[in-house]
Amino acid sequence: MASSPASAAAASPREILTRVFGYPAFRGLQEGIIDDVCAGRDVLAIMPTGAGKSLCYQIPALVRPGCGLVVSPLIALMADQVRALRANGVRAGALNSQSTDSDATIAALRDNDLDLLYVAPERAAMPGFRALIARAEIALIAIDEAHCVSQWGHDFRPEYRQLKGLCDDLPGVPRIALTATADVTTRADILEQLGIARDRMVVAGFDRPNIRYEVAPRQDGMRQLTTFVAAQGGAPGIVYAPTRAATEKVAASLAAQGVNARAYHAGLDPVTRARNQADFVTSEDMVMAATIAFGMGIDKPDVRFVAHLGLPKSIEAYYQETGRAGRDGDPAVAHLIWGAEDIARQRGFIAEGSDPGRQAEETRRLNALIAFLETAGCRRVPLLSYFGDTQASPCGNCDNCLAPPTLRDATEAARKLLSAVYRTGERFGVGHLIDVLTGKPAEKVVKFGHDRLSVFGIGGDLDGEGWKALARQLEAAEALVRDEHGGLKLGPAARPILKGEVPIALREALPKAARQSRQARAAATTADVAPGDLALFEALRALRRELAAAAALPPYVIFHDSTLRAMAAARPKSLAELGRVPGVGASKLATYGEAFLVAIRRG
Ligand code: ADP
Ligand code: ZN
Repeated sequence: MASSPASAAAASPREILTRVFGYPAFRGLQEGIIDDVCAGRDVLAIMPTGAGKSLCYQIPALVRPGCGLVVSPLIALMADQVRALRANGVRAGALNSQSTDSDATIAALRDNDLDLLYVAPERAAMPGFRALIARAEIALIAIDEAHCVSQWGHDFRPEYRQLKGLCDDLPGVPRIALTATADVTTRADILEQLGIARDRMVVAGFDRPNIRYEVAPRQDGMRQLTTFVAAQGGAPGIVYAPTRAATEKVAASLAAQGVNARAYHAGLDPVTRARNQADFVTSEDMVMAATIAFGMGIDKPDVRFVAHLGLPKSIEAYYQETGRAGRDGDPAVAHLIWGAEDIARQRGFIAEGSDPGRQAEETRRLNALIAFLETAGCRRVPLLSYFGDTQASPCGNCDNCLAPPTLRDATEAARKLLSAVYRTGERFGVGHLIDVLTGKPAEKVVKFGHDRLSVFGIGGDLDGEGWKALARQLEAAEALVRDEHGGLKLGPAARPILKGEVPIALREALPKAARQSRQARAAATTADVAPGDLALFEALRALRRELAAAAALPPYVIFHDSTLRAMAAARPKSLAELGRVPGVGASKLATYGEAFLVAIRRG
């Protein structure tokens, strides 16, 4: 057997973690899972994005004799993993419809010269492949994105159903299934479909502590968005917009502000789309304005923000989409801009469905999302409780924790607004209602005689923004519902409010200073760099950019930002010192060490 530079004989998981991957310590559940798989036990690992699932099978594949077989549904992800592993000196290959070096990969497998082999599920099910595997020494079988095996998961792949046969061909070889999103039904299905015992499941918490959650009511959506993006200091990010046209508009508006922005949606021709995606992965400053078609299968660890212009479909969708930010563990922001009309639209979609059971379920999901949007408390409480996690104390890293909103009693104001809706005939939009309440004799008000109603001019308690916020809140609570023309009617929750049985608390609009302080800690790449190290950090980034371009690699494959930050702070003087910086493994030290030492000496 040829010896691998990475999998030296009888290496321990910890030794491989530091030598090959250059990390000083395991994270969360990694160590326990790795020990189990090394000992030949099966595992189903449910861990949030960014928790470090890949090491859970990569390290055992290096510890155990033979090649680790990894089933992965996305070709782009496979290519990314193989690239990152090779950069660390691990012998990795992939077999899928796009591989160009399949023969060499198969030969390496046969000669036991491969540490990790990534395969597409279609390939894994083929008899020829199974025969090949039967003759090779296999260290473990890893099934990534394991929720694809379940028809209850959000991305069912029928080929995944055939993986059990492959596993059963290899008795005694440990199976490790991994996923970030699986509810209780999906989890049970994965265990059954892959033949993993029930007591072999480990579930990590869903919290992504490095993501700061922010929610803002829409005023001028596009201006709010460009202001937000400008505050991110040129960091790469994704903006999710509801329609193709909206993605184009966002990209154009951002580009007009000098942001390196592109659009991505299903209407682009495949070549442009693929190029935009590839450029985004490599870029250190690109903002992608995209429909939700974008993001699956993109393993870019340094996405610094995900913004939503409009509502995601559900909390699950929101969690998944925002989860694409900050996979490298560095600070990241999830920023959502929404309006009451978004809710009206989603209620409309739900009402169009025919199955009452489904309608009830979708309404429950929408209400959970609204509770998250409307909370005046820590955002993590409703977010995590949706997945069955509890957040005991305020997180300190969401908009409401950073600048707690003040609440004022608005029960009386709510009754005035609902009365105005009723007295004007339940067909006018919020602008007209505000004119009536604040006693503005606008043309339309006079024309309908609304200046003669008892509700005319009784609304001195709030200004226009305040009334709008209140209307949005009442709409979210279904005390108001919107017709197809934007006219507001009383909804099922109106009556108890009108009768004064249900108190209404309104969030005060934040003063400007507080709004700005919310944005003060932007997730810019340089946010955590000490001022004295900034110049060196930038120089190291420039060097990384050069090396990446020369090797046709995305910069993060060479070193993550956190590694460059640590270098700039520690200023190592020798290769030995540089090797102790987190993220610098033996292979990268050999390849890039000298160049970075020179830059550090100069800086
Ligand atoms: P997941 O698949 O769970 O989303 P990844 O396996 O892609 O997560 O890991 C996310 C990031 O965290 C990667 O950049 C990886 O290199 C890094 N990482 C994983 N484990 C550790 C660790 N123990 N220490 C430091 N960084 C780690
Ligand atoms: Zn919080």
